[in-house]
Amino acid sequence: MANFDYDIGILGGGAAGLTVASGAARLGAKTLLIEKEKSLGGDCLHFGCVPSKTLIQTAQVYHLMKSAGKFGLPAVETGPVDFQAIAARIRSVIQVIQKHDSEERFCSLGAKVEFGEPAFEDEHTVRLNGRRISPPSSRLSRAASNSVKPRSRRASTRRRVRPCSWTIWQSASPCPGS
Ligand SMILES: Cc1cc2nc3c(=O)[nH]c(=O)nc-3n(C[C@H](O)[C@H](O)[C@H](O)COP(=O)(O)OP(=O)(O)OC[C@H]3O[C@@H](n4cnc5c(N)ncnc54)[C@H](O)[C@@H]3O)c2cc1C
Repeated sequence: MANFDYDIGILGGGAAGLTVASGAARLGAKTLLIEKEKSLGGDCLHFGCVPSKTLIQTAQVYHLMKSAGKFGLPAVETGPVDFQAIAARIRSVIQVIQKHDSEERFCSLGAKVEFGEPAFEDEHTVRLNGRRISPPSSRLSRAASNSVKPRSRRASTRRRVRPCSWTIWQSASPCPGS
């Protein structure tokens, strides 16, 4: 029987990949997460849910300020909107949440996080940062599944979870800061 180093490999650290990685690691699976961007979080944190809801909240506050009279409050003089300030707040909110979607946090949960753009060589082999990695199975998050370029159709359609042998990760570095 092969001696496997990891139980599951996940490509894409967006909402889907982070959820799977967190769950798998918490359940005790040896978990591997690969993200092609410089930080985790995906669309939800960087472009979708978080920025849009932060912007919507700002719009709601502005609307309330202008509607103060309707609530029996003194009217508020609203100056011109400074979108640079709004954008700065959006970035600061992202930074707060980024701590929860960080390599450090997922490492502390027991997952190994790698950054880079993997490419499938075949259904069991991924090339990452010049290294050849050979897991028997992997999981793709939704968006990642659209962008990974497999060399064979079979490589992109396998969706099995079973122990995998990413032997290159035997020498994986420890958690940042540890
Ligand atoms: C404006 C907007 C507002 C939204 N608001 C909400 C909301 O309020 N609530 C809600 O539930 N949903 C919301 N969504 C939807 C939400 O953002 C998506 O459902 C969610 O981001 C999907 O997560 P995902 O992990 O599948 O994909 P993504 O978030 O796209 O994550 C995929 C990750 O995979 C990485 N990746 C891609 N290719 C590779 C590769 N080859 N190798 C390694 N990594 C790779 C990407 O860099 C990314 O980090 C909103 C979307 C938008 C656009």
